[in-house]
Amino acid sequence: MSLRSFEIYEKASKIIPKAAQTGLRAETHYPHPFVPERAFGCKIVDVDGRVYTDYHLAFGPILLGHNHPEVNEAVKEQIEEGVLFGAGVCELEVEVAEKLVELIPSAEMVTFVNSGTEATYHAIRLSRAYTEREKIIKFEGCYHGWHDYVAFNVNPPKEKMGRIYPQSRGILKAAYETTTVLPFNDKEAFEEYMAEHGEEVAGVILEPIPHSVGAIIPKRDFLKSLRKETKSYGSVLIFDEIITAFRHNIHGVQEEFGVIPDLTTIGKSMGNGYPVAAIVGKEEIMSLVHNGVLVSGTYSGHPASLAAVKKTIEVLEREKVVEYISKLGEEYRKAIKDVIEDTETKARVVGYKSIFAIQFAEGEVVDYSSVVDVDREKFKAFAAEMRKRGIFFTPNPLKRCHLSAKHSEKELEEFVSSAFEVLRRID
Ligand code: PLP
Repeated sequence: MSLRSFEIYEKASKIIPKAAQTGLRAETHYPHPFVPERAFGCKIVDVDGRVYTDYHLAFGPILLGHNHPEVNEAVKEQIEEGVLFGAGVCELEVEVAEKLVELIPSAEMVTFVNSGTEATYHAIRLSRAYTEREKIIKFEGCYHGWHDYVAFNVNPPKEKMGRIYPQSRGILKAAYETTTVLPFNDKEAFEEYMAEHGEEVAGVILEPIPHSVGAIIPKRDFLKSLRKETKSYGSVLIFDEIITAFRHNIHGVQEEFGVIPDLTTIGKSMGNGYPVAAIVGKEEIMSLVHNGVLVSGTYSGHPASLAAVKKTIEVLEREKVVEYISKLGEEYRKAIKDVIEDTETKARVVGYKSIFAIQFAEGEVVDYSSVVDVDREKFKAFAAEMRKRGIFFTPNPLKRCHLSAKHSEKELEEFVSSAFEVLRRID
């Protein structure tokens, strides 16, 4: 392995914990230090000049492809006018907010923040203020960021499933008491809980498709029950569409699933890599913002990020990107399924539209219990071998691969022939 990656990694290890800004990024140092230098289209290049086809796409935001010239140009034009004003409201904020209200069915009002974690934090705080209650329901396998309200049961070990499991040390004890974790897709368990505690529930938050553990497709009657029960008990239904909105549907998957939440959190793909997120929702709830409910942030609604959002949405609409990547995703899943069968590998391919995940496990995926037993070591070995062949994705067996507008049939063929070679040997 060449010198520069190792040199930089060695230096980083001394002053940056685990040589990465997030724990999940640290995992991408397997099987060798990963030190990216630049990225363009669907490619990412490391400091040693190795070029990889990128299926990681920074955990998903890069929808139009890396370093999109039009988006970058829009950002440059904006920063030439001034980087940050931090006063009043810019016309750009109004324009982007109006566009979101036009696009997202649940959006009547909009508040911009800088990250998905901030968005879910504020959505939950709003639900508590609106209902004057404290309890929150989340579902096993869903990730909503790192704050204390939700940092439970994203990927607990098998023996800890089904009871409250913190994803971190240092979480407030009070959060254990106010957050309840239920199994995803289990309408009966949810209705039973609501029958007993519905009057105490402030908010119910979920990823409508839990992509934080690959892809769990929601049952329609489960989603419908969430809507019906929250309405009847006066609790706030929050869809965390940080991954799904824009990537799967420019209107959010709430549109295609026909279930409209009270609040929606969006982020990632809407800025094609620039840091931005938003809480959108019913006026009745959203109008509490700055009106008793504290939402703040020096950089919230940053002009550079909003310029990126405006241009990203324009390109998405003009070039019908979602249609293109969704169809390509279907082709990937079909081709990978054939490879799995041809190589007689004990694995499955799951996903939705432009997201797919290869899991070394069999059977249908209904909830977190269907993915807890995936063969982690085998997946890591698979990811390492694919990386040798110029294909990059995280070696975390519960994460997923993403497609961008710059992936094409050519990359599909490369992926499939490499996967064939690797899987033939691995199993
Ligand atoms: N919600 C979902 C569904 C996510 O996937 C993520 C990040 O991966 C978050 C919230 C947190 O977003 P951020 O990392 O921008 O804080």
